[in-house]
Amino acid sequence: MENIKGKVIAITGASSGIGEAIARHLASLGAMVSLGARRLEKLETIVNDIVKNGGRAICKQLDVTQAVDVRDFVSFTIDEFKTVDVFINNAGLMPLSMINAYKVDEWHKMIDVNIKGVLHGIAAALPVFEEKDRGQFINITSVGDRWVGPTSTVYSATKFAVRAISEGLRQEVSGNIRVTIVAPGATESELAETISDPELKKVALEQFRTHLLPAKAIAAAVAYAVSQPSDVDVNELVVRPTAQKSF
Ligand code: NDP
Repeated sequence: MENIKGKVIAITGASSGIGEAIARHLASLGAMVSLGARRLEKLETIVNDIVKNGGRAICKQLDVTQAVDVRDFVSFTIDEFKTVDVFINNAGLMPLSMINAYKVDEWHKMIDVNIKGVLHGIAAALPVFEEKDRGQFINITSVGDRWVGPTSTVYSATKFAVRAISEGLRQEVSGNIRVTIVAPGATESELAETISDPELKKVALEQFRTHLLPAKAIAAAVAYAVSQPSDVDVNELVVRPTAQKSF
């Protein structure tokens, strides 16, 4: 695949699921990948695997709710790999619940990670991209960035917000900076573990999360967007399992 080899790609939420798959896939295509998340041991295991397979990878612990952590992650990546070419805002959580369950702490967590975390990523990487007048943001949203249903209200709201932020950013930045959203349907990962209500988790797993994409399918969509020539800005990719018809 063209235009990936040698690129420096920083990924938040790279310790499991989609972020891990993106890191492994892009590294296998010759990118230099920088992995961030809270679970350092998991990151180190993935980095060791990538390096064992001949790839180039580094990692740093970060909490995307802390702007300073995300700034430090970008600085660390530049110290190690000289620059950042692509910043992937992937970290997220999905504690679904009905509004009248009043899980206010979970609403706050989703807003902090899914929205503020993305803004922290933009604030950390955009100055680097502006200085060299080149770069790409890839924001992992969800089909919930355009669909809402019972229990997904706050989660979908956070993903609608990221879609809006991405579109505004695309319009504001200079011609050589690219902004892409990748909106996955149901995909293999640890995401459903963030649902705290055991009944809802059961319903999610038994009814909605039966036909899952492998996380590598989302990694392939990300690779497609990165691989385009620098004057081609793939703005939105929606990737669902074929069997996912209802949302
Ligand atoms: P996982 O739960 O497997 O991965 C989520 C990642 O986010 C983990 O690496 C986790 O790492 C990280 N994360 C969570 N909170 C923080 C934080 N505060 N700071 C830094 N990292 C954090 O789920 P997915 O791979 O599925 O999720 C990735 C993205 O894909 C999310 O944005 C999700 O909304 C989106 N998505 C997923 C779908 C699916 O069906 N799987 C469908 C649609 C969208 P750690 O705990 O180590 O910090």
